[in-house]
Amino acid sequence: MTAPAPRMRWWGWGVDGHDAPLSATAQAMLTAELGALPPRREPVALEDVQLPDAVLSATARERLVAIVGGEHVRDDRLARVTHAAGRGYHDLVRLRSGQLADAPDAVLYPGDAEEVAAILRACAEERVAVVPFGGGTSVVGGVEPLRGGCDAVVALDLARLDRLLAVDPVSLTATVQAGMTGPALEEALAAHELTLGHFPQSFEFSTVGGWVATRSAGQASTGYGRIDALVLALRVATPSGEVAVRPVPASAAGPSVRELLVGSEGTLGVVTEVTLRVRPRPAVRRYEAFSLPSLAAGFEGFRVLVQGDAAPDVARLSDPTETRVSLAMSGGDGLTTRALRGYLRARGHGDGGCLAIAGWAGTDEATVRRRRTATARLLRAHGAVALGTPIGHAWEHGRFHAPYLRDELLALGVMVETLETATTWDRLPALHAGVVAALDGALRGRGTPPIVMAHVSHLYRAGASLYFTFVARQEAGEELAQWHAAKAAASDAILAGGGTITHHHAVGRDHAPWLPGEIGELGVELLRAAKATLDPAGIMNPGKLV
Ligand SMILES: Cc1cc2nc3c(=O)[nH]c(=O)nc-3n(C[C@H](O)[C@H](O)[C@H](O)COP(=O)(O)OP(=O)(O)OC[C@H]3O[C@@H](n4cnc5c(N)ncnc54)[C@H](O)[C@@H]3O)c2cc1C
Repeated sequence: MTAPAPRMRWWGWGVDGHDAPLSATAQAMLTAELGALPPRREPVALEDVQLPDAVLSATARERLVAIVGGEHVRDDRLARVTHAAGRGYHDLVRLRSGQLADAPDAVLYPGDAEEVAAILRACAEERVAVVPFGGGTSVVGGVEPLRGGCDAVVALDLARLDRLLAVDPVSLTATVQAGMTGPALEEALAAHELTLGHFPQSFEFSTVGGWVATRSAGQASTGYGRIDALVLALRVATPSGEVAVRPVPASAAGPSVRELLVGSEGTLGVVTEVTLRVRPRPAVRRYEAFSLPSLAAGFEGFRVLVQGDAAPDVARLSDPTETRVSLAMSGGDGLTTRALRGYLRARGHGDGGCLAIAGWAGTDEATVRRRRTATARLLRAHGAVALGTPIGHAWEHGRFHAPYLRDELLALGVMVETLETATTWDRLPALHAGVVAALDGALRGRGTPPIVMAHVSHLYRAGASLYFTFVARQEAGEELAQWHAAKAAASDAILAGGGTITHHHAVGRDHAPWLPGEIGELGVELLRAAKATLDPAGIMNPGKLV
């Protein structure tokens, strides 16, 4: 059996041919707001990507071949390039321009947990760093092939660990291998009339192991819970041996080892197997749009929803800028968008109006109808106007579309990046304003006035997450410096505003400088102590998390 083919095209999102051209209205809006854009730029050819020489020693290579077989150790250009970066903005800039300072010296495709364990033992002895690789969709530099203090670095791709191992329909659990992608997992569960209900925007390509290693959140996590709430048990291969957490519904056996491993970002070991809490597959799904008269009304309405046990499974509230841009980008160039805006203005929802999407899933119509009525009643009490199902279902159909659009924007010379945080309800408005101002100031100060927009995407009784998108004209030749300036300003504003440095993208390399500001130096030392125990040679994903 040969090694699996790369799942995504090497320079962007999805596969070749799945492109997402921008509508004429959207292009006109971008030019009006960002200034004239440069001529279109395509990515360099694969042969022109600059790669460092591979430096894996012959001895190390022979040992790895003996473990997984020669066909599962790859060091060809395509394998090295597709494992050299994640899918954040800075990754795409480097890939498209062919400037890769780092690349794995080889890519390994183990076939089971025992091979993973043997690889870690061999790599620790040969001083080879190991970067666990799921879908490679990290946006925080999580799969950056850094050597740390090691002599070489390999990517450990879990694509062959792709099976559903067991389903327990009584306890409602499913045990799966870590390399399963979202669609493969949901398809396998559907055969048992079950679902996990975890739908991150990267769903098509990200994996169970990646979700667990990054504490991912899905679009329906307000209802189904984040991945950390869905993990019952897991097996993790570490250089010091296997840590296995048993599947019990709750435990008072000391501090949670499961919680230490979930979110460990490949720095402690490799997640090989996960037992997940699953649910009966919903027969009915309903998505609806609402308009709120202002962001303040929206925040308050969403707080009351979640604290009143009336939150939908999908709960999104766009700020006024995101509302305006979404309507323009949706292709509603003429009548539909204008008619909608007119309708809303007549009801007092002017330029400050905010679009909300609510989605409910359930096993029968009556349950979904009852939940929908409870949500709508509370939102109406906060001035909401119900816009019905067409916009809601349009959101559902386009929910995985934005990453394809990002490739097109980069070709047009437009920077587009996202970042996220969460805080308590009392701080949410100020945090939103602080991050918008920080991003706007950093980019405007460089002469590239941006569009900065945000939405609330996950509700908790104590607070909510905020997901920011910023768009600006790229500074030719200074793309990474421009990105760094914006990212640093936003990260400082997040900590100053009482937010977490990451609500679901994880720490990776990019957020590591801000981690001590969130968990304290002693907190970081605690994580380092765990790493010293499980990974004494320091081979696991160097340069990430701590
Ligand atoms: C367009 C786009 C949209 C996104 N939307 C969301 C979203 O809605 N919600 C969200 O939470 N995130 C989102 N992300 C971020 C990313 O998809 C998540 O972090 C995801 O969980 C990563 O999964 P992956 O399989 O691609 O992991 P990878 O990118 O391969 O790895 C991520 C990190 O986990 C480690 N890792 C991977 N597999 C394992 C394993 N088996 N054992 C140990 N460590 C491992 C890696 O070493 C790395 O540190 C998005 C990213 C993109 C590009």
